[in-house]
Amino acid sequence: MSKASTDLIHHPYVPPAGFAAPQPGVYKASTVIFPNVAAVRARNWKSKAGYTYGLHGTPTTFMLEERIATLEGGLQCLLVPSGLAAVANVDFALLATGDEVLLPANVYGPSKVLAENELKRWGIGYQLYDPMDPADLRSRIGSRTKLVWVETPGSVTMEFAPLADLVQVCRERGVLTALDNTWGAGLAFNGFEAGCDIVMQALTKYPSGGGDVLMGSVVTRDDELHVRLKFTHMRVGYGVGGNDAEAVLRSLPSMEVRYRAQDQAARQLASFMQGRSEVALLLHPAFEGSPGHAHWQALCGQRDLAAGLFSVVFDERYPTAQVDAFCDSLKLFKIGYSWGGPVSLVVPYDIPAMRPQWPHKGVLVRFSLGLEDPADLMADLEQALQVFAR
Ligand SMILES: *Cc1c(COP(=O)(O)O)cnc(C)c1O
Repeated sequence: MSKASTDLIHHPYVPPAGFAAPQPGVYKASTVIFPNVAAVRARNWKSKAGYTYGLHGTPTTFMLEERIATLEGGLQCLLVPSGLAAVANVDFALLATGDEVLLPANVYGPSKVLAENELKRWGIGYQLYDPMDPADLRSRIGSRTKLVWVETPGSVTMEFAPLADLVQVCRERGVLTALDNTWGAGLAFNGFEAGCDIVMQALTKYPSGGGDVLMGSVVTRDDELHVRLKFTHMRVGYGVGGNDAEAVLRSLPSMEVRYRAQDQAARQLASFMQGRSEVALLLHPAFEGSPGHAHWQALCGQRDLAAGLFSVVFDERYPTAQVDAFCDSLKLFKIGYSWGGPVSLVVPYDIPAMRPQWPHKGVLVRFSLGLEDPADLMADLEQALQVFAR
């Protein structure tokens, strides 16, 4: 376990007088009651030193904000209704008509769809850069570039970027960087130590861990930047419910245990799949030969941590229908997006349709590990692989 786990469990929290339990209470309110008119007139809804309105925070959401900031090694945190809303919060706060945002070519898909629609409609341009090539990023940064998103590894194709080099390029050009840290989850590496200005995460994944909450976070280490993000957050009406915040608070103390278990299980199953003749390519950054393995080693090698995700590219002799039949034959692995919950999942992706530059012809399947017994999951893979013998 890391210090983060201890800090998440022994977090400063003062329970109500006479009730000395370490578990936080759940507060829910659409508003608070002011003692008199003078207090309403004196209210400063922009400050989080006090409570003014449910949307702007309750003791429960303030506590979760503090804990997520602790997890990421940051100072300030905003909570939003989904991971995608966290991406939108950053884009809306920092970009204006005429600006441009740069996204890695393997960016979380809906982040690109947002750029292609709302951002484009508002006169904000975007370009994709090669996340494995800092020189390509450098060549694309221009006077209009106001924000660069970084994300590593790509959550489907799993190539691990040279994060510090990418961030260095942005620093040299004075451009803000925002990291989508859903994969690292604040455990595998520290986004701020890597030089990022903003670290967002889909709390939907590992921090929730239950597959039953949608939430996102936007963490910073700079008051001024936080305030810019917070004002947009307030103006667009982003808020999270008390019960959802409580569900994440309840899951945080076990997060590192789950992350480590899912990491171990993923490596065990990835290794098994790598040895199969049906598989042309294993994509998992902790494995030698996987794209960007050396970059993973540099950033996460000391902690030796990776999320419980891997992809395989099946040999091109197997048509899509046969790979689909493999996925359909799995019994414990369910077919579905997302990750970090108790149920193991698979999704096939048509990468050539998504990424014209992709060099492999076979069908890609992404596996996300839940919390089942890895031996049972291995047996499930073995029985489903029989579809390739037919
Ligand atoms: C899931 C995910 C998101 C979005 O999170 P939601 O809560 O599902 O909106 C963003 N980035 C990455 C890398 C993700 O995996």
